[in-house]
Parts: sequence; C-alpha cells; structure tokens
Amino acid sequence: MKTGKLAKPYRIDDGKHFRLKDFDPADTGPWRSKEHAAEKLHNDIARLEELQDKLYAQEQWALLLIFQAMDAAGKDGTIKHVMSGVNPQGCQVFSFKEPSSTELLHDFLWRTTLHLPERGRIGIFNRSYYEEVLVVRVHSDLLDNEKLPPKLVTHDIWNERFEDIHNFERHMALNGTVIRKFFLHLSKKEQKRRFLARLDEPEKNWKFSASDVRERDCWDVYQKAYEEMIRATATKHAPWYVIPADHKWFTHLAVAAVVVETLEELDLSYPKVDAQKKKELAAARKELEK
Ligand code: ATP
Ligand code: MG
Repeated sequence: MKTGKLAKPYRIDDGKHFRLKDFDPADTGPWRSKEHAAEKLHNDIARLEELQDKLYAQEQWALLLIFQAMDAAGKDGTIKHVMSGVNPQGCQVFSFKEPSSTELLHDFLWRTTLHLPERGRIGIFNRSYYEEVLVVRVHSDLLDNEKLPPKLVTHDIWNERFEDIHNFERHMALNGTVIRKFFLHLSKKEQKRRFLARLDEPEKNWKFSASDVRERDCWDVYQKAYEEMIRATATKHAPWYVIPADHKWFTHLAVAAVVVETLEELDLSYPKVDAQKKKELAAARKELEK
C-alpha cells in the first residue's frame, strides 16, 4: 500500500465538518496485525533516514511535528519508534509540561517559539501550545495563573487563541517550516487497560501518576475540547491527523507514513556542486595525494 493512501483517511485539512465520533480509535485500516505491517514500517523508517539526510544537507525546509493526546495514548513510544532511524543531530524533541514561573510571564506562544526547528532540522513537540486550548480550557484555574490583564479575558478567549495559532502556523509555513499535527486518538476503555497495566507491572509503575486518573474524570470535556481545537485549526498548511491509538503498532505505522509522505512532497535533493566547488575538490585531492 502506498504511503500517501495509508494516511489519507486520517488527515483533516479543513475542519468545518469534523466530528471526532466519525473516527474509531481501534481502526487499523486494511492492516490485520503487527506482523502484517512490520515490513512496511521497517521500510518507512529506512526511507525517513534517507530523506532526513537530504533535509539536513539542503538546509532550507524545517519540519515541525506536534503530538497531542490523552495520557497513555503512546506519544513517547511513537516518537521513539518513528524517529529510531534518524540522525540525532538533525532532530530535536521537546516536551512541554506545566509552564514555569518565567514562562507564565510571557504570552502563550513564547516558550514553544524558543524551540522551533531550524532549517534542515526536524523538531518534535511532545505537547505544545495546543495545551493552551486543551488543559487550560478544561481547568480554567490554570488561566488565572497566566496573569493576563482581566480585561483581556473574555468569552472569546478560546476563539482568539485558535485564530492566533492559525495565523502563527501560517506565518511559519510561509517561511519554510512544514507543520504536521498528530492527535493520537485513544478510547477510554484502552486507556483504562493501559493504566491498569502500569499498576500491575512493576517495571511500568514509574509511569503511573494519580493525577492521570483524575484527568480521566474529565474525559468527555477533553474530547469536546479536542474536537473544537481540530475544527478550528486544521488547515492545508498545518493539517491535523487523527491517528487511531488503541493499537500501538498501527499508530507507529500511520505516523511514520505521514512523515515520509510529507518529506517526499518536498522534493529534497543534496545541494548541487558548482564549478568553483568542483575546482576546490580537485585541488584538495591533489593536495592529499601529494
Ligand atoms: P507522560 O506520557 O510520560 O505522562 P506527559 O506529557 O503526560 O508525559 P507529565 O509530566 O505527566 O507529562 O504531564 C505534563 C502535564 O503538563 C500535562 O498534564 C499537561 O496537560 C500539562 N501542561 C502542558 N502544557 C501546559 C500548559 N501550557 N498549561 C498548563 N499545563 C500544561
Ligand atoms: Mg502524564
């Protein structure tokens, strides 16, 4: 199956009619099992390595991959698997947790802006400025921490943030940063299963956090926030992918396919060597062979 075809059903680049309930977290497309998909994943990871090398050498485009999800949806594992072949020099991962006191003294796009990828690099955001229309929206006391002038905090604040994000991403895209956003779509049932595994298996205990279980109580409010976020911020220049996350192997397969497809579309090539450079190379050879 061609890479482009695999990811297409999950791509949202116009959010107008988007509804989360049209997407099944347990979907695996035409793939029956991990074993069935293994070769395709292996090939995509190898292809990604080649493409990244050209991206780096060319130093024109940057690629920003954004991951958002409920707890235990597999963000970390997906990043680890999909990027396993790439040269660490050309790739940076940033995780955004609760903002620090310094970060809270700035506008909500400041801290992530500091970590945007340079040309030639792949930047991965494990959580991002999208938390500002997710966790901050679900728990409005977090908004109070942001010290905004009260006059600026109106009922329109979420729509204003959507619009600001939209404009920011457009600006980045027009300046050569290609943005792809992934919502790892997990079912409530599978989350419970994974939380229980974290309790049952000693080597997974460290992953368990009691606050994750409290967040689970807000499941429906979060799902609604995700839906509205995707509706408002899915665009051609920065599409969302709603990736089924109940089967980890499929999540890895689909995300890898999107990244490969995105880089293929850029038509990357190694920088051409001009006449002057060729002369230099010939001179260097002479020097070495002396
Ligand atoms: P893991 O999957 O390993 O649990 P995680 O991404 O969930 O990783 P945690 O340290 O468990 O990391 O959680 C980070 C927390 O920070 C999340 O609850 C997230 O909602 C919160 N957070 C991130 N950005 C913001 C923000 N801008 N304002 C408030 N809270 C935020
Ligand atoms: Mg967590």
